[in-house]
Amino acid sequence: MRQLDFDNRFVRELPADPQNGPGTRQVKAAAYSFASPTAVSNPRLLAYSPNVALMLGLEDADIRSESFLHARKQGIAGKRGGHQFGHWAGQLGDGRAIALGEVIGPQKQRYELQLKGAGPTPYSRHADGRAVLRSSLREFVCSEAMHFLGVPTTRALSLITTGDDVVRDMFYSGDAKPEPGAIVCRVSPSFIRFGNFELPASRGDTELLGQLVAFCIDRDFPHLKDRGENRIADWFLEVCESTALLMAHWMRVGFVHGVMNTDNMSILGLTIDYGPYGWLENFDPDWTPNTTDAEGRRYAYGKQPAVAQWNLSRLAGAIASLLPDHEVLHAGLNCYGDVFNEKHREMNAAKLGLLPSHEDDAVLVQDLFKLMQKLQIDMTLFFRALAAIDLNVVSLQPFEPVFYDAGLRNSDGKDLLAWLARYAGRIRLHEEPDSARRDRMNAVNPLYVPRNWLAQQAIDAAEQGDAAELHSLMEVLRNPYKEQTGRERFALPRPEWARNRAGCSMLSCSS
Ligand code: AMP
Ligand code: MG
Repeated sequence: MRQLDFDNRFVRELPADPQNGPGTRQVKAAAYSFASPTAVSNPRLLAYSPNVALMLGLEDADIRSESFLHARKQGIAGKRGGHQFGHWAGQLGDGRAIALGEVIGPQKQRYELQLKGAGPTPYSRHADGRAVLRSSLREFVCSEAMHFLGVPTTRALSLITTGDDVVRDMFYSGDAKPEPGAIVCRVSPSFIRFGNFELPASRGDTELLGQLVAFCIDRDFPHLKDRGENRIADWFLEVCESTALLMAHWMRVGFVHGVMNTDNMSILGLTIDYGPYGWLENFDPDWTPNTTDAEGRRYAYGKQPAVAQWNLSRLAGAIASLLPDHEVLHAGLNCYGDVFNEKHREMNAAKLGLLPSHEDDAVLVQDLFKLMQKLQIDMTLFFRALAAIDLNVVSLQPFEPVFYDAGLRNSDGKDLLAWLARYAGRIRLHEEPDSARRDRMNAVNPLYVPRNWLAQQAIDAAEQGDAAELHSLMEVLRNPYKEQTGRERFALPRPEWARNRAGCSMLSCSS
């Protein structure tokens, strides 16, 4: 395998845990522990992302090489803390991810490489440090899909099955069974999360906290390093802004993360840690795919923007001791709200193809989302159908495939018809050929998203050793805004069989 150009600043510049070995322990005054991937019996490459390989300067043969498949180089497990479901959880960390180091790619950008599912670390608590194929495939597919959707995200280089079984109790029902194990190689400029700062703050370790903040600004926000005494405030403001932009994008594409704990919030505003995520099908702000959250619905689709702000306020609390004036933290949190509202409004206007700006647009948009919820309309397919309508002949006919409930369509479809008439009236104010509206809308409303049941079909085949379905899915998702002939089955509403099937509607954290 080609030599990667490693430059491990995290290890070089931050304090290490003096103790070695994977035994679970509380690690004080250190940012990470050394850890090595456990050997696996029969690693096989299921898929890789040529795009990410290129970014790193790797070629096909490199990824297929024995040395890549058996990568056992010593790496590190990062240490952090976090608020999980609203409660302080104490020390967390990379319990099953081992960072191999920081690679400088051919374009001179820096990328951390991390193997998820590579074996136990000091942060594994009571778990095994492993990952199952179903969850690894879901992370590989969705993180790459997000990139092509234009949503900030960590990336994935490769998906490898290990040849070793991993025992999981998928529904926490006492019915544990062996499943195929897998490893995803994740790639990101930084894997630092809000929780990295929360842990030293909670322990009163101001020295480590200060070191981590200085390091993060220096490595991940280099444009801020010369800002003198304002740099921490400016840094927090930027984290607030990028998080706001991320939330607006999630809302635009109908993504539900499922586990927005503060240890799963990237300092760079990237989507990170794909677990029991899901994609809205029938539009419902109260929907979450995560069975663990079915009762409280803390992380439901519509709550994500408010949760992100709550998470930012935990970060603010963690870094407060480094700032003489807390006003800048309040300013950052307010800025989050302003940026989110503005981006969300802009993206919604773009989804509807509205040119700026008309004072009644907010009402038109809100009325649409209320109707989509009431009529149980498929969000993704609706916006593609809306782009395609003939403004002169408004009818429900082009919207046939977007309804999940024929009864609702028959009883309340007239409300959508009335809304469409208002919409057509509004669009007629644009003095442009309607094809311009269509093109604008299709550039921001994806036709293909990694719906859970599509991922599940790829999982079912991959568990039988057949990766063809996974490859087809990846190919479609690399071009999510462009209609692809012969790929119609990837742009269908959720089929009836998937409504209540495990992995297709609800998912657990057991992965
Ligand atoms: P998550 O909600 O998936 O981000 O995981 C929460 C915490 O549990 C993280 O610190 C993970 O590293 C840890 N964790 C999850 N699954 C495992 C596993 N199979 N083995 C060890 N640690 C795990
Ligand atoms: Mg996590």
